[in-house]
Amino acid sequence: MNTPIYNRVALIGLGLIASSMFWAIKRGGLAGTVTGYARSAETRETAREIGLCDEIHDTAAAAVKDADLVVLCVPVGVMGQVAADIAPALKEGATITDVGSVKREVIDAVGPHLPENVHFIPGHPLAGTEHSGPRSGFAELFDNRFTLLVPVSGSDAQAIADLRALWEGMGARVEEMDPDHHDLVLAVTSHAPHLIAYTMVGVADDLRRVTDSEVIKYSAAGFRDFTRIAASDPTMWRDVFLNNKDATLEILGRFTEELFALQRAIRTGDGDHLYDYFTRTRAIRRGIIEAGQDTDAPDFGRSKVKT
Ligand code: NAP
Repeated sequence: MNTPIYNRVALIGLGLIASSMFWAIKRGGLAGTVTGYARSAETRETAREIGLCDEIHDTAAAAVKDADLVVLCVPVGVMGQVAADIAPALKEGATITDVGSVKREVIDAVGPHLPENVHFIPGHPLAGTEHSGPRSGFAELFDNRFTLLVPVSGSDAQAIADLRALWEGMGARVEEMDPDHHDLVLAVTSHAPHLIAYTMVGVADDLRRVTDSEVIKYSAAGFRDFTRIAASDPTMWRDVFLNNKDATLEILGRFTEELFALQRAIRTGDGDHLYDYFTRTRAIRRGIIEAGQDTDAPDFGRSKVKT
């Protein structure tokens, strides 16, 4: 068992990411006490029932009292409001971090509410599933996945080192990144692909004739993968797009251009274009497997974990 990195950690929001953090923290013996708070009485009750967190509090302020680390695990669109709620109760010298999928807007929303005497170190674990809620977490979620830390200017070096040690203790590989770069990279690797999956499943749903039975009965790997991604939490993803507007629109613009080029190749029978394009994209897949970020299993190794 490791020496705890923090005496007291508070998880605000008790969904997939927070519950996975709790189980991973416990697995590694990384904190003395972990407290938790979620908005609804129902989620707090579930958390108490399944032993999620050592203490569940009925207000966010009570949960963060005396905490050395506070982790905001709520949808991106409410981060600012939650920060305003907890600010007066924060312990001097505490570290405040978040797990939001967008960084620039979260920094702008949360930063102004925090007192000067705490350390704000935004973060983002690149790990998730299409499931949500307090029952969906598991200790292995972050194993060998990247967590990006996005320190704001003047962040305390020791506070960053402690947070890095926590994520590493939870199994993650940690890197630091600038917030705008983070938002662009994630628009390419996560946000635009989710929008495309939502769109493809929406198109199938519009074709009512096939949706009722055939799309489900004959669903092939391509469509099945889209449906898994498009089953992700609607609140979380609404907030991601509204808060990473510029980068997502930039990538979707490029996507549309490429789509038109492929459309033209199909129309004109330009097989060489299609073949070359698909050969190039195949190499990306190989790169991801070689980097240990997915497996070569025939089900794409995605039965449990995705980014
Ligand atoms: P989730 O499973 O849907 O859980 C969200 C939690 O936030 C719930 O416990 C919810 O409480 C709580 N919450 C919502 N509004 C709140 C408010 N105003 N005050 C207090 N609590 C509130 O979400 P998640 O997947 O863990 O995502 C959490 C964060 O992680 C998001 O910012 C997301 O962008 C980021 N993230 C997600 C993934 C992923 O794949 N899911 C990956 C990386 C990062 P109730 O249950 O009471 O409504």
